[in-house]
Formats: sequence, C-alpha cells, structure tokens
Amino acid sequence: MATLMDRYSRQLMVIGEEGQRKVGRATVAVFGMGGLGTLVAYYLAGAGVGRLYVVDFDTVNISDLHRQVLYAVRDVGKPKVEAAAERLRAVNPHVDVVPIMENVELPLAAELADKADVLVDAFDNWASRHILNKAAVRAGKPLIHGAVDNWYGHVTVVLPGKTPCLHDLFGRFARAPMCVGQCPVLGPVVGIIASVMATETLKLILGMGDALAGRLLVVDAKRMSFDEVKIARDPSCPVCSRAT
Ligand SMILES: [Zn+2]
Repeated sequence: MATLMDRYSRQLMVIGEEGQRKVGRATVAVFGMGGLGTLVAYYLAGAGVGRLYVVDFDTVNISDLHRQVLYAVRDVGKPKVEAAAERLRAVNPHVDVVPIMENVELPLAAELADKADVLVDAFDNWASRHILNKAAVRAGKPLIHGAVDNWYGHVTVVLPGKTPCLHDLFGRFARAPMCVGQCPVLGPVVGIIASVMATETLKLILGMGDALAGRLLVVDAKRMSFDEVKIARDPSCPVCSRAT
C-alpha cells in the first residue's frame, strides 16, 4: 500500500515535511463548484488539505464538462457537490471532504468563514461574491478571488485589514445581474485562473501567501498577456473600513 510519503513525495521536495503538515492541518472552503472551483478543489485535495468544504446548490449539466474537471457524463443531473465529493475522495481518501448543497447567504458564509483558514471565491456571480467578501472581512480570513469571462480572467488575494476588499474593487458590480443564459467561457482559460488561485491558497496555508495581496492579476488569454493592476483601499468602503 502506498504510504503518505509516496503520495506527497513530489511536493514534499517543494514544501518540505513541515509544509506538508501545515497543509494537512488546514481547512479550506471552496465556494462554487464550477470551472474554477472544481480545479481548485482538485489541486487542494491532491495536495492533502485536511478538510475541504465544497459549496454549490446546482446540478451537473452536459455543458459544464468542457471545463468542470471533476465531473463525467454519468454525473449529469447529479448535485455538483455530491459528484465533486465522490471524485475528490477517490483522488485522496485522506482529505475530509464536506459537501454543502446550498445557495450561499450570509449565515452560511459566516459559519464557514469561522471554520476555514482560507476562503476561495469561485462563484460565477457578483451577489454571492459580495456576500462571501463580507463574511471574510468580518471573520478576518483570507479570501482568494478569481473570475473568468470569455478570453479573460483575473485573480487577487484579499487579506482583511491589509488589502482592499472585493467591495473596494468591484462594489459597482454588487447588484450586477448574472449573465443571461450561458456565459461565454473557454475551458483552459478557467484552468489558468484556477491554477493561480490554488497556488495562492497553498501559499497562504504555508505562510507565504501575500504575493497577490493588494494586486490584481489580469489575464488576457487571447494576447496571452499577464498584467498587474495596482489596487488601493477605499477608506470609505462600507464593508472593510468599519471592520478594521
Ligand atoms: Zn472594502
């Protein structure tokens, strides 16, 4: 039988045994089990995160399969969190995967913000992102935010009290409607952004995660350019100016 040393041997060479122990003690909540969330959850389960909350209210659709890597044709119609949990446990049975099939409102976001060490915003709509941002700021927990649209995507890390929160950056979208019908998205562009999000999550767990804090990484996959937008806190932000 394969030992844990076998399982993690390749990443132990990168993060060391103490790093692996930190990963194993960590709890992460991934909100949204779409293209971004499935990939982030896959990498975190593979890496050996101790407990992984996966949150989504939706079921698997055939049009999800080009980018949502945890699902197969047999999962179409199943709750995403159930199919995701099954697949994640198959990848790494040492991870405690907790599926939550719920629409995210503030009480659930706040409960998971208390329980988790890192929160991952893999939502596909601004209303849910702003709910999670509020919970993260109130709990003082780091939030990894990523989003994809068409050929483009962006990522940033919110460290409450230190960096701008999502409201400082995207408050104007707080009431933006979800895209009507199907949103345009290319699978591998989701992969680029999700990989950055998973990497930043692991770095936060390892205590080296401030690289994208206060920076917005903007990816244009058509030109394959990675640009950085400097971002600043809004002293009048209704979410984070009062909390810190
Ligand atoms: Zn703010």
